[in-house]
Amino acid sequence: MSEIKKIGVFTSGGDSPGMNAAIRAVVRSALYYNLEVVGIRRGYEGMILGEFIPMDRKSVGNIIQRGGTVLRTARSPEFRTKEGRQEAYKQLKAQNIDALVAIGGDGTFTGAKIFGEEFDFPILGLPGTIDNDLFGTDFTIGYDTSINNVVEAIDRIRDTAESHSRLFVVEVMGRDCGLIALRSGIGVGAESIFIPETKTDMEAVMHRLEIGRQDKMSKILIVAEGEGESGGAMEISEKLKKRFPHYDIRVSILGHIQRGGKPTCMDRVLASRLGVAAVESLMEGRRNEMVGLLNGKIAFTPFDHAIKHHVEINKDLFKIVDILSL
Ligand code: ATP
Repeated sequence: MSEIKKIGVFTSGGDSPGMNAAIRAVVRSALYYNLEVVGIRRGYEGMILGEFIPMDRKSVGNIIQRGGTVLRTARSPEFRTKEGRQEAYKQLKAQNIDALVAIGGDGTFTGAKIFGEEFDFPILGLPGTIDNDLFGTDFTIGYDTSINNVVEAIDRIRDTAESHSRLFVVEVMGRDCGLIALRSGIGVGAESIFIPETKTDMEAVMHRLEIGRQDKMSKILIVAEGEGESGGAMEISEKLKKRFPHYDIRVSILGHIQRGGKPTCMDRVLASRLGVAAVESLMEGRRNEMVGLLNGKIAFTPFDHAIKHHVEINKDLFKIVDILSL
C-alpha cells in the first residue's frame, strides 16, 4: 500500500512543448490511482509563495496539444537559498503534499535533488527541455518539437536562399548542447554544423565550400548559439564574407520560435508515458530520480547522474553531414 496520498506537480526553468501533455499525464494518472493532485504555479517560485491549485480531470482537458505550460514556469533565485527551500517545505506540508513531480531541466533537477535530500521528500523528475541535454533519456520532452520547428523554418529559408543564390548562416538554440543543431542540420541538408561540443575547423569548412559544387544555388550553415570556438553566427558570416566576397551571405537567428507551438505526436507520447511512469513509481517508493526513456523502455537515473553526466555527441551523425553535403 502506497504511503503517498497527495502529489504536487510543477514545471520549472525554460518552457518546452509537451510540458502540458506531461502535466495532464501526471494529473490523470494520479486520479486514476485515487491520489489527490495539486498543480504548483511558476515552479519553485510558486512553491515558496504558496501558489497551489487543486487539479481535477477537467483541469487538464484540451491541453495536450498546447505548447508552453499551463502551470507557467519561473526561475527562482530564492529556492537556491536554504531559507527559500525551508519556506517551500512549509508550504508543501501545509497542503499535505507527500511527493512531487518536477518537470524541467538540469537546474530544476539540481534544486529537486538538494530539496529532496534536505527534507527527505520524495521527488521524481521528468525531462522537460528542448535541449536534449540530460543523461538517462534518449529524448527530452520538447526536443522533437523544437527540431521540427527548426527544420520547418530552415525549409522556408532554403526557398529564398535558393531563389537568390544565397548562403545563410542560421543560429539555433543550444547554449551548451549542439543536439538541436546537429539533428536539424541533417534534416535540412546543411553544408556544415557548428556546435559547442566540438572544435570546428573553419579552414576545412571554407575549403569544402571552395571545392564543393559551384552550381549549388543555396548553402545553409547551422550554428548552435553556444558555439564559441568560431565566434558565433555573426563572426562566422564575417569570415566567410572575407573569403568569398562574391557570395551573398545572410545571417538568420531563429530565436524563440524554436520553443513554441504545438508539440509533435512524439513529444506528446513521450510526455504521456513518462507522466504515468512517474506517478506509478512514486507509489512504488522511488524518489530522487529522473524518469526517462532509454531504447524505448522506461529508465530511472539518479538526479546526480542525469545532471552531471555528459551527453555524448554521436560522431556518426556528424560524419553524415559531411558525407551528404557533397
Ligand atoms: P532549462 O534547461 O530549460 O534552462 P532548467 O531546469 O535547467 O531548464 P534553470 O533556470 O537552470 O532551468 O533552473 C530552474 C530553477 O531550478 C532555478 O530557477 C532555481 O530555482 C532551481 N535551481 C537551479 N539550480 C539550483 C541549485 N543549485 N540549488 C537550488 N535550486 C536550484
